Amino acid sequence: MNQVELQSTRFRAALIAWYRLDGRILPWRTTADPYRILVSEMMLQQTQVVTVLRYYDRWFQLFPTLESLAHADESDVLHAWQGLGYYSRARHLHQCARWVVEHCGGKLPCDIKSLLELPGIGRYTAGAVASFAFNLPAPILDANVIRVLARLVNLETPIDREPGKSTLWELAEHLVRGPEPGTFNSALMELGALVCTPRAPACERCPVKTYCRASHPQNIPRKSVRAEVVRRQENYRWIRRGDQILLRKCAGPRWKGMWTLPLADEIQNDEVPVFEMRHSVTRFVIHLKVFSGRAPAVLAPDNSYHRVKDIPDLPMPTPHRRSVDVLLGGR
Ligand code: SF4
Repeated sequence: MNQVELQSTRFRAALIAWYRLDGRILPWRTTADPYRILVSEMMLQQTQVVTVLRYYDRWFQLFPTLESLAHADESDVLHAWQGLGYYSRARHLHQCARWVVEHCGGKLPCDIKSLLELPGIGRYTAGAVASFAFNLPAPILDANVIRVLARLVNLETPIDREPGKSTLWELAEHLVRGPEPGTFNSALMELGALVCTPRAPACERCPVKTYCRASHPQNIPRKSVRAEVVRRQENYRWIRRGDQILLRKCAGPRWKGMWTLPLADEIQNDEVPVFEMRHSVTRFVIHLKVFSGRAPAVLAPDNSYHRVKDIPDLPMPTPHRRSVDVLLGGR
């Protein structure tokens, strides 16, 4: 064993030993069921663990198997995802389940190449399923792993373009080779979540500090450009007819298949919103305003009335669910 391999072996052992003692016990870490792991990985993209925990078990009550998910209506899938945001993940998961049932006999493939052919599965998710479910030495790079690896090698080049990206993938690929690749990947993620955190890494209690070359870890990783925050106002109408409310079914990519309040085409200067809130989507900060409106003489093709009692069963993005709840006097 050469010096580099020896260092890697010791590094892996130290990290895994720490993880076994201090790592959190999370439901997706106590299963090797590829479907359960796939769902957790899709949910965890851009969503915190504490939020995912509120959805995870309920998901399997609704869709206990990949096959049941494949046969579900898209609107039920979106409804179950409601509150997790970034709904394209739910659609991808649904498409993936359909594809696996149609083309793979209902079983998720166990090799990276075939996993990458599934709709909505990128290199990270394929690596996660391959290593966590099938214990294959497949590298993963999520935000936590990127931060840990970049600091370990004191990577000063930007991580969001070449050669930074390739450096990290090569390092992840090198380190994952060894016994228990799934446990190793989990440990790396956990180190980033609990110890090597973005703003205040706890280096003094880091189990791999003797292998770390970061001199100013809080300055790493570096990015080439910081996305500028874009502020935007969106106006909607609150139109009620007896016990019914006018809603619009979205066709655009953001909320495809979900129901929102209808858009307000024109707002008069003296109109005052009956509800407003701000929310963020990636780099957009959206100021949502709802104005009261009159029932239109002719309905737009994507608009329809819904009884108040049926609204809880419709898939709605969180800002619109909140608007409707408040305007109905719910909270
Ligand atoms: S020593 Fe500090 S910077 Fe290095 S991996 Fe550990 S927590 Fe991160």
